[in-house]
Amino acid sequence: MSAGLWQPGLLTGKPSSVGLLRNFVGGSFVDGGSTFAKVSPVTGEQIFDVAEADSGVVDAAVTAARAALDGPWGRMSEQERAGVLRRVADELERRFEDLVAAEVGDTGKSISQARTLDIPRGAANFRAFADFATTASTESFATTLADGRRALNYAVRKPVGVVAIIVPWNLPLLLLTWKVAPALACGNTVVVKPSEETPSSATVLAEVMAAAGVPDGVFNLVHGFGPSSAGEFLTRHPGVDAITFTGESATGSAIAKVAADGVKAVSFELGGKNAGLVFADADLDAAVEGSVRSVFTNGGQVCLCTERLYVERPVFEEFSTRLAARAAELTFGWPADEATVNMPLISKTHRDKVLSYYDLARAEGADVLTGGGVPSFGDARDNGCYVQPTVVTGLPATARTNTEEIFGPICHIAPFDTEDEAFALANDSQYGLAATVWTRDVGRAHRAGAALDVGIVWINTWFLRDLRTPFGGTKLSGIGREGGNHSLHFYSELTNVCVELS
Ligand code: NAD
Repeated sequence: MSAGLWQPGLLTGKPSSVGLLRNFVGGSFVDGGSTFAKVSPVTGEQIFDVAEADSGVVDAAVTAARAALDGPWGRMSEQERAGVLRRVADELERRFEDLVAAEVGDTGKSISQARTLDIPRGAANFRAFADFATTASTESFATTLADGRRALNYAVRKPVGVVAIIVPWNLPLLLLTWKVAPALACGNTVVVKPSEETPSSATVLAEVMAAAGVPDGVFNLVHGFGPSSAGEFLTRHPGVDAITFTGESATGSAIAKVAADGVKAVSFELGGKNAGLVFADADLDAAVEGSVRSVFTNGGQVCLCTERLYVERPVFEEFSTRLAARAAELTFGWPADEATVNMPLISKTHRDKVLSYYDLARAEGADVLTGGGVPSFGDARDNGCYVQPTVVTGLPATARTNTEEIFGPICHIAPFDTEDEAFALANDSQYGLAATVWTRDVGRAHRAGAALDVGIVWINTWFLRDLRTPFGGTKLSGIGREGGNHSLHFYSELTNVCVELS
């Protein structure tokens, strides 16, 4: 792979040649046992061959990571490591447009979103965790026992070891660097497996690591699938000490079973079925525009997206009408067009799954306020994975449309009458990732924070992130929290040292 692969055709799903993306092990790019095709979700054309890591390549990656842990990386001071992380951030900024092309080419997301959200967060993650790791403190206690003996207790922070990092395809670089940066900041070495659907930005990240002077073996990359492929080879490998995973709840459950055999630490950021609550006292313009973002950003393919909207009855009709009208207006341009908002779903498999939910909603008796089908372009995008932004109503909270994560541009909208009912409806889910509340009542905003059984409650906003804050979910939405000191906690072992002073 070289920077020359990032040709203009990648942004439209029509590159003039198909390049090979390779694994990165011990500081070198290596082939796998076989290759698989990465196709554009915009046009259905193949854009890359990808070298699939077999068990031998995964073993070599874990071995390289172990050797690097025992080498100079493990002996560096926190400040020196932070300096390396800042050089990685600089290099990510230097490769900004390559990373934009990689992400847009793999996912079909709009170039404006890649430039403003996905790619800037890569460098931001490295800078943030360079700062957090050099300013974090550990607990200490001056201890006095009943018999008068005195002691000083303090904790020493150490790396966990070799960390396996497995991420999905929806925000590829953002989610990968969210885990790589704190893992490296804490002195660990990593083997990462990006989604088989989005191998490109992780490959550029490997080049960035080399260019930034990250020692060989500290960052290793294996490409491939989940079960019986690179993902499972990695989680089963006895040389892996901890697993951090973002993806579907069912996959998290499968990985947890494997991790249990090796008593490996896990951190899981999983699925959601997030509710948005719109109260009659809300700024309705802000609630409509905020809900358009929270439902349809990234084609509805963000774990934090709202799939269930509950609206207080006096404003239900007006809100529903306005939301459906705005959804119908969202533009379907080519990804490289700055004005484009919508994007395709990631693959034909995922498109078929989302379309099956459109059919299911109708079969369950929903009224379709807008969308519900496939747009027609009259060009190569008709071979892509596009579906229409969709708003439905009229279903009970127990309908499958309202209980299962769809992960596409669709929401169900229903009325409520009281605050208690709204909170109960939001909590009536097997998931507990995020909720959004639109209200001008400050007391209600704080009551929502306490009442909603989710990891994040946004009041009058959505997807506003401070990287110091805890991020994660309750119930099927995850195990643990990442962000700021919470990440440092997962990626570190603490050894308590007790010194008797008598
Ligand atoms: P997925 O679970 O199918 O795959 C995620 C990753 O796991 C991929 O790299 C895949 O190859 C790998 N994988 C799959 N099976 C595996 C196995 N048995 N062993 C090891 N690795 C395996 O998820 P997806 O379809 O790529 O992503 C969409 C899901 O991710 C949605 O459920 C979404 O809510 C969730 N998600 C959650 C967050 C969060 O922060 N909570 C963020 C983004 C996405």
